[in-house]
Amino acid sequence: MSEMEKTKCLIIGSGPAGYTAAIYASRANLNPVLYEGLQIGGQLTTTTEVENFPGYPQGITGVQLMDDLKQQAVRFGADVRFGMITKVNFSKRPFTVTVDDNKHIQAETVIIATGATAKYLGLPGEEKFKGMGVSACATCDGFFYRKKDVAVVGGGDTACEEAVYLAGLARKVYMIVRRNVLRATTIMQQRVMNTPNIEILWEYQTVEITGNENGVTGATLVHNSGEEKTITVDGFFLAIGHQPNTEVFKPAVETDEHGYIVTHEKTTKTNIAGVFAAGDVQDPHYRQGITAAASGCMAAIDAERFLTGAEN
Ligand code: NDP
Repeated sequence: MSEMEKTKCLIIGSGPAGYTAAIYASRANLNPVLYEGLQIGGQLTTTTEVENFPGYPQGITGVQLMDDLKQQAVRFGADVRFGMITKVNFSKRPFTVTVDDNKHIQAETVIIATGATAKYLGLPGEEKFKGMGVSACATCDGFFYRKKDVAVVGGGDTACEEAVYLAGLARKVYMIVRRNVLRATTIMQQRVMNTPNIEILWEYQTVEITGNENGVTGATLVHNSGEEKTITVDGFFLAIGHQPNTEVFKPAVETDEHGYIVTHEKTTKTNIAGVFAAGDVQDPHYRQGITAAASGCMAAIDAERFLTGAEN
């Protein structure tokens, strides 16, 4: 058997947290290896314009921002690779990590930056029509609904952002909101209210997504009073929050009741010495590109200090 590959620092994930960790770790001569996972560049690649990442007064597209971060990491020598981590063994150091079920790497430190994934309602129609009218990413799929009618479920910032974006393409956008208020920030609420082709369906829940062999044709909703309503739409967009991507690390790495990795003492340290977590995978509160990037920086510094024994 050939000798197993070894690295001082393995970074899992390619969002702002992962790439920023790679920038810092490579500049600290840790020669990091980074596996990008399925969604290269992470969630920001599913938005259009990023207006609140400091340093871009005119805004920047999510795809460009992530490519810039990646190039910055590569410039300092980070080894960025395709691949999914399918198994980990954190029971002893060096840790052993399996890539795509067939390759094993030994790592002295691991930085988990796997982010979070969009949630679905759990309706049969979602599975049936995924990619055929059902989507969790308006900016990825909105293009297909030009001059058509669509629905967005949710009342948070994401739902508002997606509804406004879709309103620029579609003829009409229904926002399906389960309460009589929006959870979103005031500025996002105002944008929705100022968009004439968005209609908010207050206090409605979706019970069924309907369609045919060509895809989604509508949805059945029920009002909190019990009244049923059907809407005719070609696209049905989910914007009801996210699930942290932590399954592969459980139960070894401690998580909270929602699956977010628990980090300690205002650091990126997990319950396992040498394993660190950064970005949305450990952050149910802020979930911003810039906060993810900042915690990626912290994780690389924590890993470096761990390796040099600076804090032991
Ligand atoms: P949130 O958790 O903030 O909102 C989820 C929304 O979906 C809520 O309105 C919730 O309703 C609704 N919802 C949840 N489950 C269901 C369900 N089963 N059926 C119907 N509706 C449901 O998630 P977001 O993704 O919107 O935002 C996450 C974080 O990211 C927030 O902190 C947000 O501020 C931030 N963000 C910031 C942006 C920006 O600054 N530009 C853009 C996007 C997100 P209810 O209110 O009743 O719980």
